[in-house]
Amino acid sequence: MAVLLGVLAVLQYRWVGQLSTDERERLRSHADNQADNLAEEFNRELTRAFFWLQVGPELQRDAPLDDEVNRYARWYAAAPRPELVQTIYRLSEPTAEKGAWVVERFARDSARLEVVPWPAELEAIRAQLQPESHQQAGAQPVRVVSTFASIPALLIPRVGQSQANEKDGRVLRTISPLRGYTVAVLDRAYIEKDLLPQLVERHFRLSQDPSVYVGIYGPGIAFNAPAGEVPAALRSAPDVTNDDLFEIRFFEFRRFVTDRRVEPPVAAGTTGAGARPVNPPPAQPGASNTLFVAREGRGGNPFRGRGGPGGPGGPPTPHWNVNVLHRAGSLDIAVSHARLRNLLVSFGVLLLLGTSMGLVLMTTTRAQRLAAQQMEFVAGVSHELRTPLAVIRSAAENLADGVVSDPKQVKRYGDVIAGEGRRLTQMVEQIMEFAGFESGRSTLDVRPADLGGIIEEALRGADPLVREHHATIERRSATDLPAVLVDPGAVSRSLQNLIVNALKYGGTPPAVVVEARRAEGGRREVSVTISDNGAGIAARDLPHIFEPFYRGGDATARQIHGSGLGLSLVKRIMDQLGGRITVRTDAGKGSAFTLHLPLAPEGALAGGAADRAADAPGLGDPRVPA
Ligand code: ADP
Repeated sequence: MAVLLGVLAVLQYRWVGQLSTDERERLRSHADNQADNLAEEFNRELTRAFFWLQVGPELQRDAPLDDEVNRYARWYAAAPRPELVQTIYRLSEPTAEKGAWVVERFARDSARLEVVPWPAELEAIRAQLQPESHQQAGAQPVRVVSTFASIPALLIPRVGQSQANEKDGRVLRTISPLRGYTVAVLDRAYIEKDLLPQLVERHFRLSQDPSVYVGIYGPGIAFNAPAGEVPAALRSAPDVTNDDLFEIRFFEFRRFVTDRRVEPPVAAGTTGAGARPVNPPPAQPGASNTLFVAREGRGGNPFRGRGGPGGPGGPPTPHWNVNVLHRAGSLDIAVSHARLRNLLVSFGVLLLLGTSMGLVLMTTTRAQRLAAQQMEFVAGVSHELRTPLAVIRSAAENLADGVVSDPKQVKRYGDVIAGEGRRLTQMVEQIMEFAGFESGRSTLDVRPADLGGIIEEALRGADPLVREHHATIERRSATDLPAVLVDPGAVSRSLQNLIVNALKYGGTPPAVVVEARRAEGGRREVSVTISDNGAGIAARDLPHIFEPFYRGGDATARQIHGSGLGLSLVKRIMDQLGGRITVRTDAGKGSAFTLHLPLAPEGALAGGAADRAADAPGLGDPRVPA
């Protein structure tokens, strides 16, 4: 079983390790997915704005090319999240008459474009457009970056005409000329206060499962969820990071082409063709993709800004990052905590199993030993009973038959019969007392009692045996012994047991000392010590002598009569009375057993005998169940 437990423990350990690795992977990929989905949805919102605000033949075949005003107004009237775009600018590239870029701001109230100087917030965009000569570019591909996370803004090309060419079986469209751009400046406050909290809640469900911190960082943004204190590691060393936020998803354009929400008519007050509903063309296979493929001229996507202004190899367009950090400090810490918990639980179960097995083993061994002792006891007791009975019977028969008639001999026979009878009585009494304790029927009659009287009675009971053994008994007692709170009969029987043992196992002849005195050091007890001049108790017997039925090796070897119950009875009585029994033994010199008895309350015995005092009120219930 122990080997099996060991194997189980090793398997358990490995299994928990494996589980933790799997759990870590699961949690990581879950967080990865959540961050991905959040970025995806955010980008979809940007893409929607990009698409709605884009003007061009691909997307608006039946609308005049210069119908920007209509398109801008429709954003505010019908977009699902019009608040996302704070300001719209139209940039027109320099012409022969006007040598510089013309910047117009879309006024929402009047639905008109008003010429304004380059706004300071668009400096980054201006910097990108300066070095490019859009006129010279002609049919050559022009690279532009479409997302400016630091502003934050979208730069949307205003497409002129497009031409479809077939090349390698693919439809490529060449767009020319590029007439300018639409700039959608996004509302940072709306993003931070509405959009991001909504998206974080939708994808991370922090209100139901606040197990992670989510942070969105990048140029111009530092957003934390939950708001308030978050650990610095969320920014510097997150468990999961997704750096795709703030990207236009061009491959999703078709989704918006078929998006019915594009269709509603424009808001009142807009001009020109804007007054009629604009029906986006049905999705053309490959059209929305090839639009940009053609512009790039090398199969890449010019607006997926990693290449940055100036083509591949330029500085990367800054994106925003979605960072996720586990609340425990990191995912690894959380998983190792869970692993420790799992290990503790499973090893706890194994420990419990091992302990129960040990306990079962212990109780079985104990039960076996007890059964063996009981068998020994039965055999021993039958022998102990048979011997005195045989002696008594033959002595009685001799007397009855008149074999002995000499008065001296008759007296000797009488003494023998009385002695054997006494031994029988003592044994039967011990067995009955033990049975009483075992069944729980035995009760002790606890009351204040005079210790001197109790010792006196014990000595009187042992007197015949003292004479039989030609022993000497010395009694040493302090004169001012206080009253004790005990069952006088039980204590007297206990003392008698100890005296009988001292006579049985004492020297030849036995010399027994009975000494009673008050405990030193302020303990509220009186001690009675019975010492003998015997051979002492063997070390291997000492731990067991208070167990029922236990008989020392020396006792059985020397065929000293006994049941093995005496000391166990004394110990039980002491336990019930709140007293103690202790033993000191000296090999070859003798043993000393001491009873420590509790004191009676001061003055409990005053003015009367122990028996009368027992009835005195205020002593509580004197009956203690045995
Ligand atoms: P019993 O005397 O009937 O065997 P007890 O319970 O009184 O049973 O004692 C248990 C064992 O303790 C004895 O068998 C003996 O080996 C040992 N023992 C008890 N008292 C003494 C003593 N005074 N001197 C030496 N050994 C003793």
